[in-house]
Amino acid sequence: MFVAPGKLRFDDVDEPILLEATDALVRPLAATTCDLDHHVIADKTPFSGFGPFPLGHECVGTVVAVGEACTDFSVGDVVGVAWHIACGTCEQCRIGHPARCLIHGDSQYGLPVNGLWGGTFSELIRVPFADYNLALLPRGVDPVHLASIGDNLALGWESVMPTVEGIDEPRVAVFGGTGSIGLYCVDVAVNLAGARTVYYDDDPTRMAVAETLGAEVEDIHGKREKDFHLAVDASADPERLRKALVSVIPEGHVNSVGIYFQDVPLPMLSLYQRGVHFHNGKGQARPSMTPTLDAVAAGRLHPQVVTSGIYGWDELPGVLTSENAGHKPIFVLES
Ligand SMILES: [Zn+2]
Ligand SMILES: [Zn+2]
Repeated sequence: MFVAPGKLRFDDVDEPILLEATDALVRPLAATTCDLDHHVIADKTPFSGFGPFPLGHECVGTVVAVGEACTDFSVGDVVGVAWHIACGTCEQCRIGHPARCLIHGDSQYGLPVNGLWGGTFSELIRVPFADYNLALLPRGVDPVHLASIGDNLALGWESVMPTVEGIDEPRVAVFGGTGSIGLYCVDVAVNLAGARTVYYDDDPTRMAVAETLGAEVEDIHGKREKDFHLAVDASADPERLRKALVSVIPEGHVNSVGIYFQDVPLPMLSLYQRGVHFHNGKGQARPSMTPTLDAVAAGRLHPQVVTSGIYGWDELPGVLTSENAGHKPIFVLES
């Protein structure tokens, strides 16, 4: 439970049960933080004032029960869980926008949005519409480093691949600042899109990870190039967003995955003169989870390089409220 900024604890609560025939129950094997969770804990978001609520919306786990209408999964399957809860069949879900589900709205795990749906830092979670919201993990891949597949890891794929598809020799810039998403984007850009990729940041740890993944690494406060096909803003920092917006070729693309809780001034005349396609919105997760898992299974993506530490479940409150939480800590729940 997130109790208040800097304060987490485990509570004993009633076990979730199957409520609908389309539900499944999943016991996490490993769970991790979305980059947003660190900001919630650090009192940087409006959610930070709404404790206590169950925290965590990224995990992989084992299916322990399925409702009678859940036909694609069986007890024992090892799965990734999409961070938000979508029906899979409404008009928005059918066109690949489950984060805009018309039936389940903004419902998600781990934050008080449209009710409480449990959190992935729990020993058991109920997954509505399980046939849609679960993804089978590939055999032969350690599930621990896939803990982020339901959100940040899949968002790395989603923020890069559809945009650069069809571009010969793409050039991609990633503006870092939050924990893991920018690094997952780097992995996709370098190793899946085959893009020349420049990672801008000022954090030596994240910069070292980006370099290991194959990016050129530059100080974000230094001189920047301005001819990228795609710039990903993974900073949640208005000044870095502005830099990303003016770093692309005319009619280039900027995908922003950082969340801005306040209005941000934008260089509108520069955007007009340059012609910039700007997207800012929630990750859709489920449609991107399958191609991301396929790429990991093929050895082309390297989520283990992004993992900053692996910890026991009991260490969770202490690690996440410490100075050294790391950019992507993963917590393993022993069976
Ligand atoms: Zn998230
Ligand atoms: Zn839907």
